[in-house]
Amino acid sequence: MVDPAPDRRWTATYAAWADELPGWLAPSAVAATVERPMAWGTRAHRIDRPYVVLDTERLRESLDIAGAEVVADRARELTAKTVTLTDGRILDGRRVIDVRGITRSPAFAEQTAYGLVLDESRCQGLEPLFMDWRADNGAPADAPRSFLYAVPLGGGQTLLEETCLAGRPALDGAALRDRLHHRLRSRGIELAGDERVERVRFPVGGGRPGRFTFGAAGGFGHPATGYSVAASLTAADAVAAGETVWPASARAVHRLRAAGLRALLALPPTDLPVFFDAFFTMPPAAQRAYLSARTDLNGTVKAMSRLFTTLPSAQRRRVAGATLGMRVRSRIRIPSAIMEE
Ligand SMILES: Cc1cc2nc3c(=O)[nH]c(=O)nc-3n(C[C@H](O)[C@H](O)[C@H](O)COP(=O)(O)OP(=O)(O)OC[C@H]3O[C@@H](n4cnc5c(N)ncnc54)[C@H](O)[C@@H]3O)c2cc1C
Repeated sequence: MVDPAPDRRWTATYAAWADELPGWLAPSAVAATVERPMAWGTRAHRIDRPYVVLDTERLRESLDIAGAEVVADRARELTAKTVTLTDGRILDGRRVIDVRGITRSPAFAEQTAYGLVLDESRCQGLEPLFMDWRADNGAPADAPRSFLYAVPLGGGQTLLEETCLAGRPALDGAALRDRLHHRLRSRGIELAGDERVERVRFPVGGGRPGRFTFGAAGGFGHPATGYSVAASLTAADAVAAGETVWPASARAVHRLRAAGLRALLALPPTDLPVFFDAFFTMPPAAQRAYLSARTDLNGTVKAMSRLFTTLPSAQRRRVAGATLGMRVRSRIRIPSAIMEE
């Protein structure tokens, strides 16, 4: 295992749907579970699907790498069987797997977020929120949209995060910070100014499925949501054993999910809450098929078709065009829902 900083602490807050996580995951890696999180489009939706926030430190400790030789260096060059390190040393193995993540590029949409960690006692009346698209964050109605994410971290702490789901370019941290401050004030939550900050920025596209890549680099990220942690944990053993983790169905699902991202980027800002109303009105099984069923082509197609037929007709035209990769003409210039230049 080659890692430039093998002892570096992981600091991101990772979460996943409980049913996505592998059975072998140590229970200690779970910091908190939300049995039925809320989502808001223009109205409230209770999601009947437990959501898990991981304890990043304990997750890291629980992942057993006994038996591996850990080399603290950077990989400069990879071939199918060799890794050249920055000091010129060459390591060889039966198979090299590239898990170097995705390098940022203007070509890839990114997800950004600005979060604050507060004591639960200061968030009275605020339920855990998978996403809340309500317009109380001070942004103009036609500005690229962001949503509030609110989850317990365990130990009496709550993470409140203003998130730009995807943008090319995405909203920057300062804009998200201002929106979060505005939103929390609107909801009567006072800030002391010394809260721990979590900053998020990562590409949601750019993964390349294949035998020699894994993690976000290997296409395990969901382009329309940015989630990859549960999918990577679930597939890790099969990848290590050299099994096929990209059957034709998974490759087709990967392409459909990318089409889903194009659709999100093409929607005007005012349409997004209605779009998510339609999404969260679907039964949990259909939501799960689209969000989590990496190899279930039938389920993904059914969920996308179902969502499509539930959308208002104006949105349907735009979503269809974006999904097929076509530009939909409009007499008025409609800025993208999230952000695409
Ligand atoms: C703050 C934050 C919160 C997130 N929250 C969630 C969440 O709740 N749920 C979810 O599913 N996803 C979440 N994501 C998105 C995504 O799942 C993560 O980005 C995840 O870390 C991707 O994992 P990865 O191991 O594939 O890539 P990375 O985490 O990017 O890891 C790549 C690793 O490769 C190393 N590396 C890079 N170059 C080299 C080199 N040349 N040689 C050797 N090593 C190298 C890096 O040091 C790094 O350790 C979040 C992302 C961020 C940034």
